[in-house]
Amino acid sequence: DEVVNKIAAGEVVERPSSVLKELIENSLDTSASLIEVSIEKAGKRLISVFDNGEGIEKQDLINAVKRHYTSKIKALEDLYSIITYGFRGEALSSISSVSRLTITSRTKNDLHGSQLSLEGGKILSFSEVGCPVGTKVEVKDLFFNVLAREKFLKSENTENIHNVSVFLNYAIANPDKHFKLSIDSKQVYNLYPSSLKERLTLIYGKDFVENLKYVEYENYLGKVYGFVSLDSVKNKKSHIFINKRPVKSPFISSIMKKKIGDNFFILFFDLPPYFVDVNVHPAKIEVKFQKEKVIVDMIESLLKDNLNEFKA
Ligand code: ADP
Ligand code: MG
Repeated sequence: DEVVNKIAAGEVVERPSSVLKELIENSLDTSASLIEVSIEKAGKRLISVFDNGEGIEKQDLINAVKRHYTSKIKALEDLYSIITYGFRGEALSSISSVSRLTITSRTKNDLHGSQLSLEGGKILSFSEVGCPVGTKVEVKDLFFNVLAREKFLKSENTENIHNVSVFLNYAIANPDKHFKLSIDSKQVYNLYPSSLKERLTLIYGKDFVENLKYVEYENYLGKVYGFVSLDSVKNKKSHIFINKRPVKSPFISSIMKKKIGDNFFILFFDLPPYFVDVNVHPAKIEVKFQKEKVIVDMIESLLKDNLNEFKA
């Protein structure tokens, strides 16, 4: 079983930022309002995510690190209308098999929290501790037992670019939540709950955001909204979110490119789950739409009134 977990881990955990993504998604799935991230040595020494969500009960803590355990799918029908980020029950078991993992958690009904520590997937300790309501997951010494993988990692600088990018993606998708990030004990972001525009202002700066135009369009199927820059922008990546999930969609990107050239955009699509097939295989995100034409039409209607404003 340990070998199987380690192989699965290779798929889920490509680099520190893949761990960060899974941990942030778990925190968002538990209706936390605060998500606090700490990273040391680009995540090779430590990736820690605390949330003030529901917490994990003592008897479920051991389950949480078991392969294919998930509390998120209650019935098969749920598979067709997934609204949580996670549902495969693979992240924690995979992460635990390639790191030193500690989970500390308490629910609001418990006086004490519990703490579970594993090393390379083996349980080291399981005990009662004092801790705030919520969950803290600490991943230390990632890939300590997978030497080939550790060598494969890029410079700390590059890995941190990936880490910050994952953090910002989820912070942009969830501006109503408090997101904090510190890297090597220095606070990098402290983003209080706010509007989307305020959040973007803290991330990109006032000058940049003032040059963005808000656009919105809704039809029988769903809604698309977001910000588009009035001029072309270099060195800032555009963002696409589908049902709050950051995705890469060459299809949507190419429509946007045709319409507005190199202008920057952040677009949110709220669509019924049956219409979008987000293949959330951990390593890659592929999005398929039931009818691509509908998406083309939505984007056309979204930009129609403003097209002459966007200097491509
Ligand atoms: P998945 O997210 O696909 O369910 P994970 O391996 O990421 O699988 O997590 C396993 C389970 O552990 C989750 O289904 C959930 O019950 C529990 N869990 C993980 N992280 C948290 C958290 N931050 N707060 C509460 N429960 C959590
Ligand atoms: Mg998960």
